[in-house]
Amino acid sequence: IQHRLSDALGRFKVRGKLTEANMQEGLRAVRTALLEADVNYEVVQRFMKRVTEKAAGQALIKSVRPDQQIVKIVHDELIELMGEGDPHIRFEKAGPTVIMLCGLQGSGKTTTCGKLARRMLGLGRKPLMVAADLQRPAAIEQLKVLGQQLDIPVHAEDPEGTDPVEVCRRGVSQAEKLGRDTVILDTAGRLHVDDELMDQLKKIEKKVRPHQVYFVCDALTGQDAVASAGAFNAALELDGVIMTKLDGDARGGAALSVRQVTGVPIKFVGMGEKLERLDPFDPQRIVGQMLGMGDIVGLVEAAKDAVDEEEARRQQERMAKGKFDLDDFRKQIVTMKKMGSVKDLMGKIPGMNQMGSMLEGVDADAEVKRIQGIIDSMTPEERRDPHKIDISRRRRIAAGAGVEPQDVSGLVKQFDAMAAMVKSMSQMSMMDRVRMLSG
Ligand code: GDP
Ligand code: MG
Repeated sequence: IQHRLSDALGRFKVRGKLTEANMQEGLRAVRTALLEADVNYEVVQRFMKRVTEKAAGQALIKSVRPDQQIVKIVHDELIELMGEGDPHIRFEKAGPTVIMLCGLQGSGKTTTCGKLARRMLGLGRKPLMVAADLQRPAAIEQLKVLGQQLDIPVHAEDPEGTDPVEVCRRGVSQAEKLGRDTVILDTAGRLHVDDELMDQLKKIEKKVRPHQVYFVCDALTGQDAVASAGAFNAALELDGVIMTKLDGDARGGAALSVRQVTGVPIKFVGMGEKLERLDPFDPQRIVGQMLGMGDIVGLVEAAKDAVDEEEARRQQERMAKGKFDLDDFRKQIVTMKKMGSVKDLMGKIPGMNQMGSMLEGVDADAEVKRIQGIIDSMTPEERRDPHKIDISRRRRIAAGAGVEPQDVSGLVKQFDAMAAMVKSMSQMSMMDRVRMLSG
């Protein structure tokens, strides 16, 4: 979905106006991309309707390309679809809170059990883990090791002829006896959904009555994760989803669809094998990955706030007349700074790091301040024509700005290069200029 979606959005890359025709074409591409990612048809229809309405009703921000504005709309709608993150776990007032993990084999249940238990410790809870996966003897051992690492008790029994439902029940009694307030059940999985597995899980749900049931699914399995989410959701009362392995080749599409199929929130995401790698689900981050276009959204927002349209136009006119001077240069730098530190700004623009050496010097706030300081130490005359600055003035300016004389000549050189470029860009908007520099 990642690449398809950014391809689709690429079709909005039209200069100038957002027309009905080019918008329709771009939106169709987005629709196809979502359908191809197996996002539910109804969901896609609803999604497209909302995006189309929003796009049509939105005023164009002059300094931002229409395609980028559409990206922002698609982005916001995807976030909406993805739902709020909800890392909150409801704990029972009386008796231990029982959390049941379920999911296919290899999805990361046992690992997540340890991660959750670790998180509980951080919340001041006293967890106990129950080894209810009797399918694989290694699974019991794996959980015991995690228990030792975290210094958390593990309830485990000899799997021979033992019923997992009973193991869970006895695990809960054990927790009560030990004064543990949170129980996490690590249940068995299969390679594929089957009736026997589902019956066993249903029995645990019915007899042990966990307070929370979380479905653990592997983001790397993509559409299989979506299918199994549907099956688990049909059999059990799910309260939440934990999506693992998002540190791998993460596919936002799976998260989106799983959320839609189950209707329950994605609570946490696994970001690695280590026990501390469990993060609260952050829809912003996943959608950002799906769009895969750098943080255009942040850029659009920053630009909305910071760019003074009037001033930008005034500057453009001056440039067109070849009247660009150090005062304008200074204003531009201040505008860029308002849009976030220059360094942040660069990070927000795809390909900005490939920018030529010329702007390399301004990629830090300190550098911007330095440039401002130098320009401030010049006379108005010198700002209009910095070539009038002679050796003695250069020393005075440097002393005034607290820099070396060669910094002053360096700035003049930067300005010359900028002015030359500006001339060739005089027809472009501020944002276009920034974009051109980004290659
Ligand atoms: P289970 O069969 O569902 O209990 O799955 P396990 O907990 O045994 O995990 C299966 C494999 O996935 C193990 O190698 C884990 O280390 C790995 N794993 C689990 N969660 C994550 C994760 O968030 N990121 C990565 N990279 N690997 C994970
Ligand atoms: Mg396991």
